[in-house]
Amino acid sequence: MQFFDSTTLLLVNAVFNLLAVLAWALLAGVFRVAPRACWLLAGAHLARVFALRCYDCRISSPLQTWPWLPELFGVLTLALLCLGVRRLLRLRFAWADVAALSAGGALAVLGLGLNGHIAGMLAAGSLAMLLIAVLLSRDLLVGAAALRFGPWLLPLALPSLAMAVALAWRGWRALSDPAPTVPALAIWLWVLLSLASSLSLIALILHRLIARISQLSLHDPLTGALNRRAVTRRLQRLQALSQRGHPFSLLLLDIDHFKAINDRLGHAGGDAALVHVVNVLGRALRSQDELARLGGEEFCVLLPHTELAAAAEVAERLRARLEASPCSWKSRDIALTASFGVAQARPGELRAEAVLVQADQQLYRAKAGGRNQVCAEGLDDAEDGSPEAPLSLPQGDGED
Ligand code: GH3
Ligand code: MG
Ligand code: MG
Repeated sequence: MQFFDSTTLLLVNAVFNLLAVLAWALLAGVFRVAPRACWLLAGAHLARVFALRCYDCRISSPLQTWPWLPELFGVLTLALLCLGVRRLLRLRFAWADVAALSAGGALAVLGLGLNGHIAGMLAAGSLAMLLIAVLLSRDLLVGAAALRFGPWLLPLALPSLAMAVALAWRGWRALSDPAPTVPALAIWLWVLLSLASSLSLIALILHRLIARISQLSLHDPLTGALNRRAVTRRLQRLQALSQRGHPFSLLLLDIDHFKAINDRLGHAGGDAALVHVVNVLGRALRSQDELARLGGEEFCVLLPHTELAAAAEVAERLRARLEASPCSWKSRDIALTASFGVAQARPGELRAEAVLVQADQQLYRAKAGGRNQVCAEGLDDAEDGSPEAPLSLPQGDGED
């Protein structure tokens, strides 16, 4: 059948893989998306152009003359794929195992191929490729599981697993049949498997791009804390949970006299202080709590499953921690304090941002009460009956 002949196959394979080389090179060189991973994958696709051995191909090339050449390219393709995937999935970049398998496989292929042991050469090449395909499948499963691919985990690793099975069959067939003829359908299947494996790589890079965009859109670029958009989203979720009986509280904090820090040390000093605040607060929070920078020197902490009294205690702990942790910048110590407003979300409230307004009122009280202190809605009223008294005694400068 004309459609299945080896020449057509070689051309389809070359066109598809060259397009893939172009795409990965563009991602690496122009868009700078995971450049090292993308260069490795571009190399893998380039090697794959030459890895297909087309027995009765009408285009004459060294691929027909030297049977060991496509075998070497096959080993190189899988090695580069494996290393590229490790980079793409940010796995620990170990290359010694892949290098050892590739070098061992290449030596065996060359040794057997040059001495005319074609069956042994095919078996050795298949074994080396099979072992690297197994490593590739394992890396895909481990790395994608860490990225929480959920039900897409198996489809992602399926092409490389199928490749490992196909390579086992190829090696076994070479040994059991002294003059193996490879049906064109098998070569087509191999091309399709390569295509499927490229699609799974595209899924990985898309996932990485989406994760990056989502990270950029939900985080503050200076401090790395969540931003206001992220807070709005999380508040909606937490408010919905609070309707179902899961309380949550929110702390709003504003650094005291930050303008003076900026005026004294310049904007760079102010920026260093903001980063320091996020580090200090982040270290003092539980893993389920979330810290966000709402803007300027104003931050908020979301405390899921936390009632007002416990939230006020957290705020007091953060306040004390910040006061005790001056920021070292250019061999100077910048003393930092902050004022805190604390509020618990009202379960009946429909507007998710209402709790922010409540906390803001308390923050305003903390500022008015002398700064460097915590004010919690309702809590201090219940304790001492004075609606204006802050929860903690003023620790600050008492300028206001
Ligand atoms: P208060 O104790 O009442 O909160 O006084 P304050 O000086 O902290 O408050 P004010 O709102 O007067 O000043 C906030 C300053 O924060 C003014 C602004 O220049 C500075 N600021 C806002 N965003 C940034 C930023 O990203 N980096 C730096 N370095 N400064 C910022
Ligand atoms: Mg301030
Ligand atoms: Mg402010």
